[in-house]
Amino acid sequence: MRTAVSQLKSGCLMMNEAFSLSGKIKINVESKKIGNFSQNQVRFYLKYSSFVFRVLKKTSFQNFLNWMLKKERIAEQAVSAVHVKVLPLRRNNGKSIAGICDTVRGRIRIYPKTIKFCQAFTQKFGRGSLLKYAGNRARAALIHELLHLKYVEDEKTVRELAREYFYLFTQKQYAPSSHSLRLCTMIFAARLVEAVPSSVSNGLSAELGAACLRASDASK
Ligand SMILES: [Zn+2]
Repeated sequence: MRTAVSQLKSGCLMMNEAFSLSGKIKINVESKKIGNFSQNQVRFYLKYSSFVFRVLKKTSFQNFLNWMLKKERIAEQAVSAVHVKVLPLRRNNGKSIAGICDTVRGRIRIYPKTIKFCQAFTQKFGRGSLLKYAGNRARAALIHELLHLKYVEDEKTVRELAREYFYLFTQKQYAPSSHSLRLCTMIFAARLVEAVPSSVSNGLSAELGAACLRASDASK
């Protein structure tokens, strides 16, 4: 009897996991595109995606997302799948894409940074910072794309809210809050990092400072 009950319980847990947001997160390899990459690159991107997968599925982050969905009145059923893409995707202008939301199908895709960016980032800031950056970039992207399910094409609102929610999450995770500000800045000023060659990285800190102020404004 006891085993039947515990089986039922664990069955329920599995069902919950399957229907929960966490259960919808999957790593997705684009088999057609994989031939365009070297073995080393594929190995790198596989590692990257499994790291992001673990970061996004962490209970603390999932609890936060569930709270956010409730607060925004976004039904969990509105999300059909979250695909952590193994290979990066670039816009026509060469910039890499962090995420895409198909609001009709409720399908979200999260993309990695390119290996080239990661190598440059590691050289400048070290591997620990890269992991922190990659994980938080994916978190910010998922928050952003989930908000699109409600605000569809209102990019401005999505950006503002995404920044606020991301800041809230990091504030809860890390004390003191200056650390979350720095994280916030890293994520939302990343385009600066990407655009600026290493020779002018001095000017970057000033720009990051300005972005930092903007981030703290958004949290008020
Ligand atoms: Zn957007």
